[in-house]
Amino acid sequence: MAAIYHDDDADLGVLEDQTVAVVGYGNQGRSQALNLRDSGVNLIVGNIRDQAGAAAREDGFPVSNIAEACEIADVVMLLIPDEIMPEVFKTDVAPNLVPGNLVVFASGYNIAFSLITPPDYVDVALVAPRMIGVGVRETFVSGSGFPSFVGVHHDSTGTAKARMLAIAKGIGSTRAGCIDMSMHDEATLDLFTEQAFGPAFGRVLMTAIDLLVEAGYPPEAVLLELYLSGEFAYSFEKMREVGIMKQMDFHSRTSQYGTVTRSARFMTLDKSIKEKMSAVLEDIRSGSFADEWSNQQPKAAALFEKIREARDKMPIADWDQKTRTAFKIGNAG
Ligand code: NDP
Repeated sequence: MAAIYHDDDADLGVLEDQTVAVVGYGNQGRSQALNLRDSGVNLIVGNIRDQAGAAAREDGFPVSNIAEACEIADVVMLLIPDEIMPEVFKTDVAPNLVPGNLVVFASGYNIAFSLITPPDYVDVALVAPRMIGVGVRETFVSGSGFPSFVGVHHDSTGTAKARMLAIAKGIGSTRAGCIDMSMHDEATLDLFTEQAFGPAFGRVLMTAIDLLVEAGYPPEAVLLELYLSGEFAYSFEKMREVGIMKQMDFHSRTSQYGTVTRSARFMTLDKSIKEKMSAVLEDIRSGSFADEWSNQQPKAAALFEKIREARDKMPIADWDQKTRTAFKIGNAG
């Protein structure tokens, strides 16, 4: 089993005389900066001088441009979008790194696919939250924390692991636990969930919606049944809380009987799903996806925008909005 770290494995004291630059003040940047400050870490925010910089100033942080913040810092946390990171790293971060610095990534993507190659004289580590930005702050405040994938990619000082774990503790992640992992494995697992598990799951959902609407059931009722009521999401939450098998006990006996006796009918799909998932995994591992997304711009971004537009015109977008309005669900309430 991979090493798992908790609060007792980490010592915030190793950051006592160090300055941490949080580069980017968006989803992760803001939450991680607030958590680190509450943990007593000495911080500066590095941001291009615009809205996010103003938000950081409002929250009481000293803010510099990215180059200045990196020059001052001992530890640089890169919390800007992955696709723009290589350019920012080249122009603003790398020229200001000195021996002994630690560079922390929240995603293994750019290192895994050789889109960024930090100089040999700095430490490089991964602290990748398994939590969206707002959750990073909320779980810190509530005291529960959130898991992360962590790993030392390069240790030039002998202190990379201690400093990495201190950062993980400072943002509140060792409370829940951090699992040791390489940049490549973290990036692969992350991309696989997004590109194989999510889409396969999405196709099953769309197929069920199509079938039931074609069979004459009102779209609003179908959407409520399948996901908008929150019942299914609740079951997923219970899977996490009590276990994937044990959560079955919360369902009626009719439900359980139907599920277990009918599951076998879908097993014939396993082979073809696995084949498609294997192809996606290979695409990710070989670096082919990263090449398409990071090196073939602006073509990839244009394709993305085109698909997004088409997606918003699908009938389900309208049904979804109307049902959420009628039932006062989420931001439609
Ligand atoms: P965001 O999209 O929220 O980052 C926004 C920040 O990046 C802002 O400060 C923004 O500044 C700055 N920024 C945007 N464009 C530029 C640019 N061209 N030059 C300089 N700065 C720029 O990023 P996330 O927080 O979502 O992601 C950050 C990292 O965390 C990534 O590596 C991501 O993979 C990882 N991660 C993200 C998770 C998430 O839930 N979002 C979960 C786990 C990891 P301004 O707005 O002022 O322009």
